[in-house]
Amino acid sequence: MESETMIAIVKERPAPGLTLKRVPVPRELGPHDVLVKVKRASICGTDVHIYNWDAWSQERIRPPQIDGHEFTGEVVSIGGDVSTVKVGDSVVSETHIPCQKCLQCRTGKMHICKNMQILGVHRDGVFAEYVRVPEVVLWKVDPSIPLEYASIMEPFGNAIHTALVTDLTGKNVLITGAGPIGAMAVAVAKVSGAAQVIVSEIKEFRKELARKMGADVIIDPTKEDLTKKVKAMTEDNGADVLLEMSGNTTAFKQGLDSLTNGAVVSLLGVFPGELSFDINGLFTFKGLTMYGITGRKMFETWQVATQLLKNKRIDLSPVVTHILPAEKFEEGFDVMIRGISGKVILEF
Ligand code: NAD
Ligand code: ZN
Repeated sequence: MESETMIAIVKERPAPGLTLKRVPVPRELGPHDVLVKVKRASICGTDVHIYNWDAWSQERIRPPQIDGHEFTGEVVSIGGDVSTVKVGDSVVSETHIPCQKCLQCRTGKMHICKNMQILGVHRDGVFAEYVRVPEVVLWKVDPSIPLEYASIMEPFGNAIHTALVTDLTGKNVLITGAGPIGAMAVAVAKVSGAAQVIVSEIKEFRKELARKMGADVIIDPTKEDLTKKVKAMTEDNGADVLLEMSGNTTAFKQGLDSLTNGAVVSLLGVFPGELSFDINGLFTFKGLTMYGITGRKMFETWQVATQLLKNKRIDLSPVVTHILPAEKFEEGFDVMIRGISGKVILEF
């Protein structure tokens, strides 16, 4: 095989920034390990937290560690007991590594494993020429799916998992926050037969992203009254479903206020701290049902993502706004931080 070192983007020290450097190829494999040659990887909001070295990262990341978790690649070697993939397979990967032993794992809920390890958070990540992962996280990807789309199947899966907690056919769906995941959720809701997909978003670049992904109406809640506008579009009822994808408290409260009684809330957004709101008025007495979403279902969500992409039911091209060589990763983080990007993809 090639040289014994590889290029990687590493959090070297407990401080802001990341460094491109040569590190050893992780060739030693346990019986269930797989070595994957990374072809494309994409930058997630989590990587931006790690780049900025905020409080969240300081609590979890132990430098030196390779960053990154969203990727696609090709299997180059396998441990002695690996049976689900073989050398040469194209793969994508779940980024949540389940223990396969806890109550949740053993009862068909691996996505909420009690002992979850996360790639690029608890162990070396994928911003490198090679990554070693346990076979349980790998999902064979149809080679007809372009590498750029394969590399964002993980966040696409977040959009699918969040959107499909309830039947969207004929429903008025409100999405708060059209970052890359919210924008992809627009397309999932449309393809699922939503009556209207209404988006609340404050940044111009992201409004445009939502429009390109098929949003029927985009409302800027700093310029218009979201609740009034949603009611005006729904015979004064309010939306049937809220997909919360902003992680912003105000957006969440406005979203709840814009729902009809008996509506369904699917909560993906991660808030910076504790929330304080009128839960009696906005939730309980409206008889709402709320789902907390973490990650993707293994591997139901991946199967849906594969079929939607393979059969071209959803076009992710508007979401892929930047494709950069790994060496230019700083440029990618810069546009992410400024909110003037969809997904930023790195080539290794
Ligand atoms: P992002 O930060 O790129 O997108 C959030 C969007 O919300 C931005 O476009 C922002 O302009 C918009 N927004 C902010 N305040 C708003 C307001 N008051 N009203 C309307 N829109 C507002 O994030 P993303 O990568 O698309 O991820 C979406 C959310 O999901 C984030 O909160 C992220 O942390 C979270 N997330 C959760 C999981 C999980 O497993 N639960 C996984 C991945 C991401
Ligand atoms: Zn488990």
